[in-house]
Amino acid sequence: MTNQQTVPHGIMFHHFHDERHVNGQGTISAKQLEQIIEYYGDRLLPAKEWFSKAKANCLAEKDVCLTFDDALLCQYDIALPVLEKYSLTAFWFVYSSVLAGGIEKLEVYRKFRTVCFSSIDQFYNDFFSTLEETEYQDMVAKSLENYSHENWSNFPFYTKHDTKFRFIRDTTLGVERYNKVMDVMIKKHNIDITDFSSDLWMSVDNINTLADKNHIIGLHSHTHPTQLSMLSVQEQENEYRKNFDFLREALGQSPKTVSHPCNSYSTDTFSILRNLKIEIGFRANMENHLFSEYEFPREDHANIIRRIEQ
Ligand SMILES: [Zn+2]
Repeated sequence: MTNQQTVPHGIMFHHFHDERHVNGQGTISAKQLEQIIEYYGDRLLPAKEWFSKAKANCLAEKDVCLTFDDALLCQYDIALPVLEKYSLTAFWFVYSSVLAGGIEKLEVYRKFRTVCFSSIDQFYNDFFSTLEETEYQDMVAKSLENYSHENWSNFPFYTKHDTKFRFIRDTTLGVERYNKVMDVMIKKHNIDITDFSSDLWMSVDNINTLADKNHIIGLHSHTHPTQLSMLSVQEQENEYRKNFDFLREALGQSPKTVSHPCNSYSTDTFSILRNLKIEIGFRANMENHLFSEYEFPREDHANIIRRIEQ
């Protein structure tokens, strides 16, 4: 067992696939979730037990919990029945704009990449070539001088195209310019966004069902900014306050936990979370450093799958 596995931590899940929810980059099946659950065996604790032990600072090194980010319907449809088969409960970190009827483009774009292109590299090629038709062409070329695939060693499952795409999206373009490029691409495909996004997110009923079944629903911001720590303190406060108020209203109880969207947070974020009386939080990596109550480590399911399949 490596050093990494001997701290109490969460396992972080995102997308699942079956007949209804499309098989794409980073998705796993119900069967693979079962393999992960069996791999960890009795190290896995129900969410409420893990939470109590974390608060009391008495988690054992081996203690692991399951976490699901982003309020995705595929998690509810595919992962929940598996958890029930094993009598397990989990943390579900919910960004609330999508439960309030909003659409967040990050997820729409992800589905677009998955269903409209035969491979992710075909998408990247289209994206990189669309970029060259835009006014951002020079800006991108210049910024790539600072790009290095090696900087992403914490995410060993990313290919060079993955990291280059993420670098351009997050560092060079930023949200607005990136969205413009993607909207140009989507327009070419004649997609109706409302219809296209109807199977992406859970409903308020779904999260109530989870809470009734002893799962823990936690914060994940309101609109899921990709770089929350770059926002002003006031904007960060709005993100978490709206998220908190929405979930408290929907569930009839105050959320006590958080996971940081895109692992982005600052000391200002911690002050905001303390004001909301959030008790524990999760980051999105297993880096070996001292951490606060808002930085419990998490292992990405992709790393575990690779370990199991080796
Ligand atoms: Zn997220």
